Amino acid sequence: MTLDTLQSLPHGFDAVGRHLMLEGRDLVTLAQEHGTPLFVFSEARIRRNAGEFLKAARRGHGRSTVCYASKACSNLHVLRLIREEGLSVEVNSGGELGKALAAGFTPQEIVFNGVAKSVPELERAISLGIKAINVDSAFELRRVAEIAARLRRRATVVLRAVPGVAGGATSGIQTGTADSKFGMTEGELAEAIEFAMARRADLEIAGLHLHIGSQVVETEAYLAGVKFAAARTRALATQLGTAPALVNLGGGYPTNYVHRRRTDAGRNEIDHFAAPRDAAEMVGEVAAAADRLLGGEIEILFEPGRSLVADTAVLLTQVESIRNRPQAGAAGQPWLYLDAGYNLLLDSAAVRWYFHMLTANRLDEETTRPFRVVGPLCDSADCFFDVEGEHLLEALLRRLPELSAEQQGILRAEVVRLPATRPLAAGTVPGDLVAIFDVGAYALEEMFQYCGRLRAAAILLGSANHGFGDRVTVIRRRDSEQDLMAHERPAEAHTAAAS
Ligand SMILES: *Cc1c(COP(=O)(O)O)cnc(C)c1O
Repeated sequence: MTLDTLQSLPHGFDAVGRHLMLEGRDLVTLAQEHGTPLFVFSEARIRRNAGEFLKAARRGHGRSTVCYASKACSNLHVLRLIREEGLSVEVNSGGELGKALAAGFTPQEIVFNGVAKSVPELERAISLGIKAINVDSAFELRRVAEIAARLRRRATVVLRAVPGVAGGATSGIQTGTADSKFGMTEGELAEAIEFAMARRADLEIAGLHLHIGSQVVETEAYLAGVKFAAARTRALATQLGTAPALVNLGGGYPTNYVHRRRTDAGRNEIDHFAAPRDAAEMVGEVAAAADRLLGGEIEILFEPGRSLVADTAVLLTQVESIRNRPQAGAAGQPWLYLDAGYNLLLDSAAVRWYFHMLTANRLDEETTRPFRVVGPLCDSADCFFDVEGEHLLEALLRRLPELSAEQQGILRAEVVRLPATRPLAAGTVPGDLVAIFDVGAYALEEMFQYCGRLRAAAILLGSANHGFGDRVTVIRRRDSEQDLMAHERPAEAHTAAAS
């Protein structure tokens, strides 16, 4: 095995002969048995991530509750495993609320978040008596009060504040500042508190909520959030005349997506996807800060999504085609065409997310080669490099010819988010299997059928000493062709009418 390949094998994966292994199972064999594209989840990893995060949070603050952000992956089996590890859940819609209940969470284990909750969604949440509704605006608070009054129930609300703290891998997933679409700035928050105090028969203010972003790699951003929460909670306590029951400090804890050897000097173009620290370690520190600044009496909620599930799954995709294209400055540039594109990994296109790859059946190859890697869709944006960013950079450099090499480098780092090529085994050809790592978060629920493509199946590798034992369980079946048409009405009617 080459140094490149060896060093880029993500933690927990092994190579046996030429094949990539997970939990002692041969992924190449599993792909043959179940077909591709195929998501493979690990029970042991899901349990370990969830359990360790909860343990670390409780070590830092004894009254910590971890509400898994189910939008990261709301597969019923995954939800059930996380519940069995003692976590609660955060939902974002009536649909996720339904899935949480179906997976066995009780209403008191559910918090409901979202910027635009509908009246029927709020009616359901209030009737169920869930643990808390994370209220996003003063407008929504009035809506909650009206519904609670009509249902003769008292709604438990937590007010989402804008802490003015920026955190997260890209501006699109920074959610803690006034220019994001989330939460209430100080003026609106004051208005909401005043309203809630006048409607105490209908509303119980349990506390405050904040969530600063996703893939937040800086612990300092969280500590700034805790500081904000402590000061704002003290002010709230004075206003209410009693101490609030809880503070929800949100999620955003990071996962390390970057498993490749650093070859280039200086800033790596994909550094912002790497987590220098473990999520559990980070939350331990944040919870301890909460204990110092907010005290041990108040309940502290956390809402991790990505960090609990991202590294629990790998996507196995088959190489369907290959060709050589001339590239600027280079003679033959090999392109690989996979059977998985952004129809299965939306974030690869929507936010140009980096997913690490290896040829799963050629781990013994001596050399790697830089490939352009693309998906199967009839859309030029369906590629695992940043085609938009590359074009934009070229256009900018043409308009700014006087930039120094250093300035050009800075511009490139800001504009082009993904590496142009991936180093894969040099012999990779059609029929081979490419493993795409860290696809457990924000993938399964974001799949769609564009270009008539079937959404992928997902299997779970059981862990010998747990619920699934050493079984391999299909936790989501692959779409059938009937599924592509399931929501459409038959077209024969037109033919019948015309004849
Ligand atoms: C999305 C979201 C989370 C989870 O974020 P991760 O980055 O996946 O941890 C937590 N809380 C709220 C309010 C969210 O919107």
